Amino acid sequence: LFQFCVESLQLTEHQAYQYITVSRKCTEIPELMVALEDRRITVSKVRKMSSVISAENQSEWLALAERSSQKDLERAVRAKDPLPPVRDHFQITSADEVKLQACLKHEVSEKLQKVIGLLVEKRGGKVSVNEALDEACELYLEKFDPIKKAERAVVKMRQKCSHKLGENRVRHADKECPRSSKNHGRGGCENVPTSGVDNNAQGSRGSERDSTSQSNKRGTKMRPARSPLSAKTKHQVWLRDQGRCRYHRQGLRCDRTRFLHIHHRKPRALGGSDRLENLVLLCGEHHRAVHEGADRR
Ligand SMILES: [Zn+2]
Ligand SMILES: [Zn+2]
Repeated sequence: LFQFCVESLQLTEHQAYQYITVSRKCTEIPELMVALEDRRITVSKVRKMSSVISAENQSEWLALAERSSQKDLERAVRAKDPLPPVRDHFQITSADEVKLQACLKHEVSEKLQKVIGLLVEKRGGKVSVNEALDEACELYLEKFDPIKKAERAVVKMRQKCSHKLGENRVRHADKECPRSSKNHGRGGCENVPTSGVDNNAQGSRGSERDSTSQSNKRGTKMRPARSPLSAKTKHQVWLRDQGRCRYHRQGLRCDRTRFLHIHHRKPRALGGSDRLENLVLLCGEHHRAVHEGADRR
């Protein structure tokens, strides 16, 4: 029958499977055929409820199918007969595409549909799930990506500094802001190293000077052992290490970008400082390895 549907009736395999399922159900429950002929229900609705409808409960399901949308009917069917859960899975399908398999909660699915709807209105054309996810992720990362946060913080500090520098120039026309003068045109007081530079985690002179002056102001050499790192220092570490684990093995750098910790190369307990050159981003696994002494970065 399947072969006949595909070859002689030129149905797709999916259509053939759908029609065969429906015709078998109609033979089992003749009332379905009557409802189809009266156009009270559609073939696709019969297929949807084929796994749950029986001679005993037919009137109940038929009534539900007549008054429900496809989506509501499907939901009612899956409440009775859930499909096996799907594990989140990313599979590379081509040079530039990945197939994502995931189970979404209904609320999440509705949110995604809403994003698609808004994008359709904004762009006035068809919008794919890929485009909707791209927009949503971009917005989230813009706000919460530690590297972007660090970049924003640096820009803010530079603006603050150039503002102060401007005031300074007005007051002392012959003097330059001493904090900016050594930054060789980088335009600010924060000399934050950029992408993938210092594999040896050398801190910038700017920040060394900065944390030293911080310590001097407090009149102590070190922070108390438990005091947290400042947001500024964290931003600098994230930016220098570009949000990626700094662990190296055989010349290859670990590529993990999630669950990263800031590690003190020389522990604070042994006098290690919070200066940039003593800090490094490590993923959880390599952080543990380093502390267990099994490996060195
Ligand atoms: Zn550590
Ligand atoms: Zn790692």
